[in-house]
Amino acid sequence: MSDVVRCCVVGGGPAGMMLGFLLARAGVEVTVLEKHADFLRDFRGDTIHPSTLSILDELGLLQEFLTLPHREVHELRMQLGNTVIPVGDFSHLSAPCPFIALMPQWDFLNFLARQSARRRTFQLLMQAEATELLRDGERVTGVRMSTPDGQRELRADLVVAADGRSSVLRQQAGLEVEVLGAPMDVLWFRVSREPSDPAGVLGRFDAGQIFIALDRGDYWQCGYVIGKGSADDVHRRGMEAFRDGVAHVAPFPRERANEIRDWDEVKLLTVQVDRLRRWYLPGLLCIGDAAHAMSPIGGVGINLAIQDAVAAANALAARLRAGQVRLDDLARVQRRRELPARATQWVQVQLQNRIVRPVLQSVETPAPPLPLRLLERFPLLRRIPAYLIGVGVRPEHVTTPDVQAA
Ligand SMILES: Cc1cc2nc3c(=O)[nH]c(=O)nc-3n(C[C@H](O)[C@H](O)[C@H](O)COP(=O)(O)OP(=O)(O)OC[C@H]3O[C@@H](n4cnc5c(N)ncnc54)[C@H](O)[C@@H]3O)c2cc1C
Repeated sequence: MSDVVRCCVVGGGPAGMMLGFLLARAGVEVTVLEKHADFLRDFRGDTIHPSTLSILDELGLLQEFLTLPHREVHELRMQLGNTVIPVGDFSHLSAPCPFIALMPQWDFLNFLARQSARRRTFQLLMQAEATELLRDGERVTGVRMSTPDGQRELRADLVVAADGRSSVLRQQAGLEVEVLGAPMDVLWFRVSREPSDPAGVLGRFDAGQIFIALDRGDYWQCGYVIGKGSADDVHRRGMEAFRDGVAHVAPFPRERANEIRDWDEVKLLTVQVDRLRRWYLPGLLCIGDAAHAMSPIGGVGINLAIQDAVAAANALAARLRAGQVRLDDLARVQRRRELPARATQWVQVQLQNRIVRPVLQSVETPAPPLPLRLLERFPLLRRIPAYLIGVGVRPEHVTTPDVQAA
């Protein structure tokens, strides 16, 4: 393997894998580093949004992608106590696929990895954990990484940090982080799913409790939302109390909660919402959660990450091919993507403060707030959340060439 490439992308999540694919497709020599041995790891959402499906369509990959097992979610509903409120209707979106495709994220990432592997200039290194930025004066010139064969260095004209919300690279770069905060964390576990269960996504809010469940065929991937930093209290109260809490809020029979045997099966996912004031340095660009960690609210972080990747490839592919990336090119990516990230985080923070926090603190089943009552009453309004979740602010389109096709 060459120890010098045009672009080194750190992180094989949605942002990194999509950017790696787009750059390789445009003929740029690119290496993606992923610290894990496979994509079967921590939960980061199963939602493939209409905008991502449109991008796959632009890339000529949609039909092949849709042959993978998935569920189509045409409408989002929320349950407050026993009242079910439709909150988003995707069916009116003008997109090739006006629905969310629910698919385990590893299937999506493996799909991108297979497509990328067909490109001559693409390289994916698994079990390669970037540990340090290499620098020449002010300029980032590559990364040091830890691999099963020991420490290695990879030099690149541009390093892209797509290493998620706990980004080591953005920390090493000393980029200033603005923390917006989140009132919750999530406990993550599985219970079985019966064919007679409802399909798609379930979400239920009740006194002091929020529960979500994603349909993964023969099991439900469940999220039990708890107050920020309260996981130790939940543990102290004991497994039986936890099962009771789940059984109370989950729309399944009680026996399903009894399937959770011990705490090893319950993973804590910490939620953080923040953003960088500046996404770049000479030789380094941050995208996706590394640039703006998203709340799980609305399930839009993957969408933002993919859109960042498309915008970065559009702005940088030709420059990278020519070996002429300038600081201003990196600034252009931030200028293009900062508004969508800020606007989406603003909505998420409003929902965190106005709905999530009060529900977690409530002792009675909350009454639907005014915006939800309006959505219930006027079906046309449901197109707004559907657009924000399914497409988002300032959708991107692929403008990079497919050099092999050409
Ligand atoms: C509890 C929770 C639930 C969520 N649910 C949803 C949802 O349903 N839908 C949705 O759209 N969004 C959801 N989100 C947000 C979403 O997970 C993120 O916004 C999205 O994953 C960001 O993608 P990314 O590619 O930027 O980063 P990530 O998905 O975090 O990917 C980063 C990758 O980098 C790798 N990595 C990290 N450090 C290194 C290193 N040093 N060297 C090499 N590799 C490294 C990691 O292993 C990982 O593969 C949720 C978030 C949380 C916290």
